[in-house]
Amino acid sequence: MTGATRMIYHFGGGEADGNKDMKDLLGGKGANLAEMSGLGLPVPPGFTITTEVCLEYLRKGGHPEGLREEVASAMASIEKRMEQRFGDARRPLLVSCRSGARASMPGMMDTVLNIGLNDETVKGLAAASGDERFALDCYRRLIEMYGDVVMRTGREEYHRALEKAKHEAGVEEDRHVPVQALQALIVRYKEIAKASAGRAFPEDPKEQIWGAIEAVFRSWNGARAREYRRIHSLPDDWGTAVNVQAMVFGNLGDDCGTGVAFTRSPATGETGLYGEFLPNAQGEDVVAGIRTPQPIRRNASAPGLSLEETMPAIYKELSGFAETLEKHYREMQDIEFTIQKGRLFTLQTRRGARTGQAAVRIAVAMTREGLIVSDEALLRVEAARLADLLADSFPEGTRVTAQRDGRLLGNGLNAGPGAASGKAAFTADAAYAMARGGHDNVPVILVRGETSPEDIKGMEAARGILTARGGMTSHAAVVARGMGKPCVVGFGALVVGEDGRSCRVGERTILEGEFLSIDGTTGDVMLGEIATTSSEIVKVLVDRSLKPEASALYRDYETLMSWADGARRMKVRSNSDTPSDAATARRLGAEGIGLCRTEHMFFGADRIVAVREMILADAKPQRQKALAKILPMQREDFLGIFRAMDGLPVTIRLLDPPLHEFLPRESAAIDEVAAQMGVTARTVRERVERLAESNPMLGHRGCRLGLTHPEIYEVQLQAVFEAALAAAREGVQVYPEVMHPLVGTGEEIRRLRAMTVAMAERILSDQKPAIPWLVGTMIEVPRACIAAAEIAADAQFFSFGTNDLTQMTYGYSRDDTRNFLPVYIAERILPSDPFASIDQPGVGRLVTMAVEEGRRVNPKLKIGVCGEHGGDPASVEFFDRAGLDYVSCSAYRVPIARLAAAQAALKALGGKRR
Ligand code: PEP
Ligand code: MG
Repeated sequence: MTGATRMIYHFGGGEADGNKDMKDLLGGKGANLAEMSGLGLPVPPGFTITTEVCLEYLRKGGHPEGLREEVASAMASIEKRMEQRFGDARRPLLVSCRSGARASMPGMMDTVLNIGLNDETVKGLAAASGDERFALDCYRRLIEMYGDVVMRTGREEYHRALEKAKHEAGVEEDRHVPVQALQALIVRYKEIAKASAGRAFPEDPKEQIWGAIEAVFRSWNGARAREYRRIHSLPDDWGTAVNVQAMVFGNLGDDCGTGVAFTRSPATGETGLYGEFLPNAQGEDVVAGIRTPQPIRRNASAPGLSLEETMPAIYKELSGFAETLEKHYREMQDIEFTIQKGRLFTLQTRRGARTGQAAVRIAVAMTREGLIVSDEALLRVEAARLADLLADSFPEGTRVTAQRDGRLLGNGLNAGPGAASGKAAFTADAAYAMARGGHDNVPVILVRGETSPEDIKGMEAARGILTARGGMTSHAAVVARGMGKPCVVGFGALVVGEDGRSCRVGERTILEGEFLSIDGTTGDVMLGEIATTSSEIVKVLVDRSLKPEASALYRDYETLMSWADGARRMKVRSNSDTPSDAATARRLGAEGIGLCRTEHMFFGADRIVAVREMILADAKPQRQKALAKILPMQREDFLGIFRAMDGLPVTIRLLDPPLHEFLPRESAAIDEVAAQMGVTARTVRERVERLAESNPMLGHRGCRLGLTHPEIYEVQLQAVFEAALAAAREGVQVYPEVMHPLVGTGEEIRRLRAMTVAMAERILSDQKPAIPWLVGTMIEVPRACIAAAEIAADAQFFSFGTNDLTQMTYGYSRDDTRNFLPVYIAERILPSDPFASIDQPGVGRLVTMAVEEGRRVNPKLKIGVCGEHGGDPASVEFFDRAGLDYVSCSAYRVPIARLAAAQAALKALGGKRR
């Protein structure tokens, strides 16, 4: 920091030398206080010490030279404007000292109010206000806040002393403590401060203000603030600004008060002033939640209490300020205000936090009102928050209530958004039997250590899925998102009993049939049944149980999505495995299927035995016999999907997982396959053992399977093309795209392509008009990226399988990250979960390399992504920059990807469309 750098900026009292665009230097609060002053709003005078000074202080452990003088002259300027003096016994000026970083970090750093009070000035305040009780109460609060924030005494002892005083005086509320009791309390508070800090509370106002400023600087590095930054991925090197401001009092009588107003509803987005206030109170009383605040606007359920009714003139003035601020910022504002003896002051304004629903409605409404243009509206809605609009939810405050009642069991990874409540089932069969067995549809939560493709039936039947192990791309997470089901994975405290009839979480045992509730949006797991509210958007689009005209939210959503579709460059497809999933995806805006995983089709009760027979067969003829049973079923699957996606491309991936996933484990299943094959159970067991692998994810899977057992892929190819032919003959427009998994070399794709072409020619050659079809490959092993040129020569498309690519690039098994990944993220060894959001410098580098190399050899190469990253907004932005043609993700993330793709395109244009 150079001597010439300015350390202090003034605001309030009708003047300001900063503005809203100076957040880096003045923090959000300081910049907005300056802006409000510039707009002529009644901001009590004050000044902001810059974030640079904070950083310098933290670096050096002391103030930069000249700061003392600047603060002194800034204080003199406040004194002049307030016509009061700091430390004056007759007309004492009191100030507050608050932190304010670039981004709001609610409750993370410290505030000290009423600075400037001591045994002398308190008398002046009593005389000037005509209220001795009020003055003493301010003094008491100062000692407590100063003790806690600056002297590090904590607050408990003071609270105990206050409770005792209230008890002795026979009063319930703090504001009723009588004068004498307050005088005694002040003496007691000072004793507490001295005893726990080892030094006396400073009577000198100058010492008070410096103590407070330094404490705010230091609070940037406090444990709470650091933790907050870690959770929200905020950098540690911003520093905080310090705002020193003349106090105004909302606790000087019944013509006073304090509150928070939103310019529109942060819950629903509804137009009109919204918020709460507390008459005769200081700001911290609102936060403390001791008294119930009153509404700002007239409210039928609390007649006569609103600000609108009790202080109509103030209400009118506040409405005017709200309108001014919203028009000026062109954004919904969250405004803090204080009323002092019938005069209104604005103490803060900032962008109001909001739900996903409110974000959509506000963005669309503001565009209609002409405050913003549609491109801005698109950038205003956080794409991931669209999940709020599509998912079922628990009522607000559910977590707090569950915690209070001891029903909150803990928190896992929030793998599939939405809320679900149901009876616990610990096996897929039990889930299926419970959900479908009764007369009505019994709600079930499937609780497993982890899930495998075998559990599909139970997952389908359950309302929600909970697993002890697994990460964001574990089987449970991927499948649940595809089905749009709430899902919590990696809930480490959970141990599922071996009997399959119970589980334990810590000391608690939960039996089959007991109610559990999971919130896949937050990761919370709770005991008991909790009612859920279903999404209006899903009711209109998917269930079709609500008419579009009946939902204003839906209409605004539709408007926003149509703007998004007009702005984006990339296409959005879905990862869907069944005709009904495909239909849902289409209703949510999918422009085709980017990944149809065929393995799930192999698990149906009607076909798993044939599949096992095929795998366990010793010789080709036996395998072909088993495959012949599977062929017609597969053909029907594909036909259904082609019909659902009439006119759109469908990418079908041939069999991918390790064969062992299909093998029978239990005796009954082994006996069944043995009988079917006409061999002994022992033979089957031996073959199962022979197929065991120590590292199946890197073993006999993907195209390695198709090349060593070509008859498996041949049957799948036959089913694809025969289904395409049948669909075309029904008049369906089909665009099949055959995708080979796990390709790593040019020779692999060359042979797979030849196999595909041969089958297509055999089946489709006579068809007129010709069915357009493609053959391509997943790019999901690092070698495929590095040697992409070799592969592109024989592929018409690439689709990045970023789940496996992340797994293999890092060498982290995607199903076994639970014991280290959370620690890595907590300790910032990794910035975030690379299975949720793409690692741009590493895995992303491989992606761009493959795009460049692939297109160099094959300029017409179509390129997409079908790993889970296709539904993650930050990753979507990266894929747009990398030049991909489409992203593909789970059906319920399709709207998120559509909006994220639009935002990426707008960012790439750098505002040129506007
Ligand atoms: C991938 O690896 O990214 C992918 C889409 O395939 P799967 O998740 O089925 O392995
Ligand atoms: Mg894969």
